[in-house]
Amino acid sequence: MAEKACKQCKHVYEGNTCPNCGSQEFSENYKGNVRILNPENSEIATNLKITKKGKFAIKLG
Ligand SMILES: [Zn+2]
Repeated sequence: MAEKACKQCKHVYEGNTCPNCGSQEFSENYKGNVRILNPENSEIATNLKITKKGKFAIKLG
């Protein structure tokens, strides 16, 4: 199954519902992704306003 990116929180996931925020709005058209392991200490996470661990899209199409 193709991975998709949540429109609400940019979390990249497989399945029907975003496991991060519970949203069912997603885009399969996203550019790049980052794996956030340490949101508190990650500059990328801060820039993208990510506060949780996981894989996130950099830009939604
Ligand atoms: Zn989400």
